[in-house]
Amino acid sequence: MKIAIVGAGISGCSLAYELTKRKSSKDKISLFERESEIATQASGNFLGVIMPVAHAEKTKISEFSKQAFLHTKDILEAFGWEASGVIHLAHSEERKERFRKTIANQSLGQEIVQAVSAKQASELAGVELSCEGLYFPEAGYVSPRDFCQRLLEESDCESIHLDKEVVSLNDLGDYDHIVFCNAYEAKNFEETKELPLRSLRGQCLCIKSEELSTLKSVLCFDGYLTPSDRNDWHALGASFNREIKSLDIRKEETKELVEKLKKHLGVTQVEVTEERASFRTTTPDHLPILGRLNNSKVWTNLGMGSRGLSYAPFCSQQLSKELFQN
Ligand SMILES: Cc1cc2nc3c(=O)[nH]c(=O)nc-3n(C[C@H](O)[C@H](O)[C@H](O)COP(=O)(O)OP(=O)(O)OC[C@H]3O[C@@H](n4cnc5c(N)ncnc54)[C@H](O)[C@@H]3O)c2cc1C
Repeated sequence: MKIAIVGAGISGCSLAYELTKRKSSKDKISLFERESEIATQASGNFLGVIMPVAHAEKTKISEFSKQAFLHTKDILEAFGWEASGVIHLAHSEERKERFRKTIANQSLGQEIVQAVSAKQASELAGVELSCEGLYFPEAGYVSPRDFCQRLLEESDCESIHLDKEVVSLNDLGDYDHIVFCNAYEAKNFEETKELPLRSLRGQCLCIKSEELSTLKSVLCFDGYLTPSDRNDWHALGASFNREIKSLDIRKEETKELVEKLKKHLGVTQVEVTEERASFRTTTPDHLPILGRLNNSKVWTNLGMGSRGLSYAPFCSQQLSKELFQN
C-alpha cells in the first residue's frame, strides 16, 4: 500500500510515526511539505503545553482530550520527556467556582487533576502565587519542532519531499491513500473545500524575567507561561484573533500578553526577546476532523485547534488503525 501525507507539522509527523508502527515492509509512506523544513507553521512555536481540557462536567471534549493526552504522554515518555506539571490559577471567582466543580465532578479523574491551595501551588511552581488552582502533575511542555523531528526520526518514510507544495491530488502521482495534514489550508483543495475549518491567529513570545528564574511548572492564567527550559527564556502565550489574517507581529498583542503576565503573576520586569505569530485551525465543535472522506482515497487529520500537541498523536493513532483495517 502507498500512503501520501500532505503537511509536516505535528499532525503529519505523528501520522508518519503511527503508520510506521502498523505498516508491513511492503507499505510505503511519503511525506510532502511545502516549506524547506518541517514544523514551520503552528507546530513551529517556541514551546507548547501538553495537557488535557478540564471542563466542569465530563464532556465529549474532556473525555477525548484525556485519552489523547495520555497517549501523547506515553510517546513523549518513551522519548525521555519528563512532566514539569501544569498549574491553572483560579484568578477570578468564576474560575474558582468552575474549578471546584471540575474536582467535585471528577471530570478528568484524580490522577490527572487535583485541587491545590495558593501555598501548595507556590511550592510546586517554585515562585510565590497568590491564588489557589488546579494541578496537573503529569502535564508539561515541549518544543513542538523537536517533537516533530523526533517523531520523524522514529518513522520509516520511503521519501520526505520538502519544498514541495501539493497543489492538487494529481500532483502526487499514484497513491492508495492520501492524508491531508495541512491544517486550514486543506480548504484550498476541491476534495476538502467544504470542511468547516477556520484559521485563528495567535501570537506568542519568548521572555526573560529575573523574578521567574525559579519557575518549575507551567502556569496557566489568562495565557500560559513555561519554565525557562534549557535556554534562559520562557515561552509566554498566546493571543487569539479571528479577524486578522496576516502573520505580521502585532505590538498590541505583545503588550496585552505582557500585561496579563504582570497582572496575574505580580511580575514587574519583563524583557521580550522574540515574537512569533501563526494560525490555529479550528472546527465548530472544537474537535478534530478525522478519518476517511466518502469512501474515497482521501483522509483527513485536521482541525487540532489550540491543543494539537496533545491531540494529533492520538488522532494519528486512530487514523492509522482504521487505515490498516481497510
Ligand atoms: C500561538 C499559538 C500557541 C499554541 N499553543 C499550543 C500549546 O501550548 N499546546 C498545544 O497543544 N497546541 C498549541 N497550539 C496549537 C498547535 O500549535 C496546533 O494545534 C498544531 O501545531 C497544529 O499542527 P498541524 O500539523 O495540524 O498544523 P501545522 O503545524 O500548521 O502544519 C501544517 C503543515 O502543512 C504544510 N502545508 C500546508 N499546505 C500545504 C500544501 N499544499 N502542500 C504541502 N504542505 C502544505 C504547512 O507548511 C505546515 O508545515 C498553539 C497554536 C498557536 C497558533
